Amino acid sequence: MNIDKVSSSPPSDFIRTIIADDLKANKNNGRVVTRFPPEPNGYLHIGHAKSICLNFGIAAENKGGICYLRFDDTNPSKEDVEYMESIKSDVRWLGFDWGERLTYASDYFDLLYQYAVQLIKKGKAYVCSLSAQETREYRGTLQKPGKDSPYRNRNVEENLELFERMRAGEFKDGLHVLRAKIDMASPNINMRDPTLYRIKSVAHHRTGDRWCIYPMYDFTHCLSDSIEGVTHSICTLEFEDHRPLYDWVLDELEVDCHPQQIEFARLNISYTVLSKRKLIKLVELGVVDGWDDPRMPTLTGLNRRGYTPESIRNFCERIGVAKRDSIVDVALLEHCVREDLNRRAPRVMGVLRPLRVVIDNFPEDKTEELDGPYHPEDPSMGSRKIPFSRVLYIEQDDFLEDPPKKFFRLSPGREVRLRYAYYIKCEYVVKDEQTGKVIEVRCTYDPQTRGGSSPDGRRVKGTLHWVSADHSLKAKVRLYDRLFKKVNPVDGKDGLDFTEHLNPNSLEVLSTCRVEPSLAGAAPGSMCQFERTGYFCVDSVDSSDEKLVFNRTVTLRDSWAKIAKKAKKAKL
Ligand code: ATP
Ligand code: MG
Repeated sequence: MNIDKVSSSPPSDFIRTIIADDLKANKNNGRVVTRFPPEPNGYLHIGHAKSICLNFGIAAENKGGICYLRFDDTNPSKEDVEYMESIKSDVRWLGFDWGERLTYASDYFDLLYQYAVQLIKKGKAYVCSLSAQETREYRGTLQKPGKDSPYRNRNVEENLELFERMRAGEFKDGLHVLRAKIDMASPNINMRDPTLYRIKSVAHHRTGDRWCIYPMYDFTHCLSDSIEGVTHSICTLEFEDHRPLYDWVLDELEVDCHPQQIEFARLNISYTVLSKRKLIKLVELGVVDGWDDPRMPTLTGLNRRGYTPESIRNFCERIGVAKRDSIVDVALLEHCVREDLNRRAPRVMGVLRPLRVVIDNFPEDKTEELDGPYHPEDPSMGSRKIPFSRVLYIEQDDFLEDPPKKFFRLSPGREVRLRYAYYIKCEYVVKDEQTGKVIEVRCTYDPQTRGGSSPDGRRVKGTLHWVSADHSLKAKVRLYDRLFKKVNPVDGKDGLDFTEHLNPNSLEVLSTCRVEPSLAGAAPGSMCQFERTGYFCVDSVDSSDEKLVFNRTVTLRDSWAKIAKKAKKAKL
């Protein structure tokens, strides 16, 4: 993993090394062809982003490189047009372009059928009529070899006829399957005569009623790769044990293009789950507000949360590509978005939990326009006028009636600076008669300190953000925290389901916030830093001109920087 900022040179890893060596040896005639092959049965998550960055990235880094976006749509009952559209839009959002190269495994159903017939003719595939239960029993276990199916020795003619009748819709679902004839005693269970085709009397959203038999993933994937001329078929480690089958199919069929399958470790991130099955469950249970809930690790959720595509690509580059499974600290992801937003987000002021401040020596009907630059290091971002008036709001946390020693914010008798404005001093407080709670802080300001410094050299330690009561806009702010309490929220051996680890406090909604008037009409999705508080974005779904809604993307506290510093020190 790369702790420091990524360099501008292209990334390097074991997969890129293999590809570079292949190019040097002029393997594949110097071509590089990859693919990203999602199954359209859910929304993409940040684990997919790792695979997208890798596949599209490698194609882009190599002259003439090509990357396909191929929908692995072999399972008609689980697929949905909504998912396909979301996948396309997420890949585009992440910054990748497949150009003309959008394909579907279902494009190849005719070819795949012919390939299956070819295998039957070679005596390498047979129609098996065991029930699902029997098939399981015959398969054996890791410790025990499997047993040959009694249908294994059907002759070629019988197999061809039965397979044709399967295709013609003569049989009910589950009555027969087509299996590869490999080795029921293989130590690799994937090689124990795996199923190649099954009967499924379900319409397919692209091929309609044309098919009632559908090819299995292991048969489809290698052949789709081969048909598209893929040179390097990059997938996650769980497919390592499938590689012998991948190679077996292509060898038996003597295809012209035999891609090399290369496996890498899938991305895991602490305090979340990266599995469509689990994410679907969260959506179905209603514990999140849909696939694009800003707490979800989906690309659409991260987008809505205020993550930029650049920050995600940068994250993917930093975590690198390896062969060993690990869990990446979510603090690194947060660090990446913070770093990006630090550069691009304008600074504004927003008060999340307002406390009323009255400046007694400031005229009641006066408003001053103060200058506030949008970015401390980037003058090109310009500045805005911030109205200052007699009644203001500051953050409740920034006032303590009875402060401990190191509290440098406002308290009775103490002076602080208001950002871009003046020094103010707390003279006394007004309390609620019943609760005794401070409801108003009465202050005086020093007109000599406009802009935030005193001509007499008097210094103050604290600088607070604030808004003018009359001029500020009402806003709702949603503070997000980790979705799970546990680093690795898996289903437990104790029968605990992963949802038992959900963090009940992953969302806090603040409805009485106030933000500075420059945010009027802020575009949905636009980002800003509320000074001293964090990075926020205008929610693209719920925000309106009448009531602004902000999502907290990330706080300003950088726990990753600390981790990195420690790691660096340990190395020295
Ligand atoms: P899930 O387990 O979330 O359902 P999947 O692997 O079934 O994921 P696919 O749609 O089949 O999802 O994945 C498309 C591609 O993305 C595959 O090549 C897969 O290996 C890759 N991919 C999926 N999850 C991750 C991950 N966490 N890290 C890296 N790559 C991933
Ligand atoms: Mg899958």
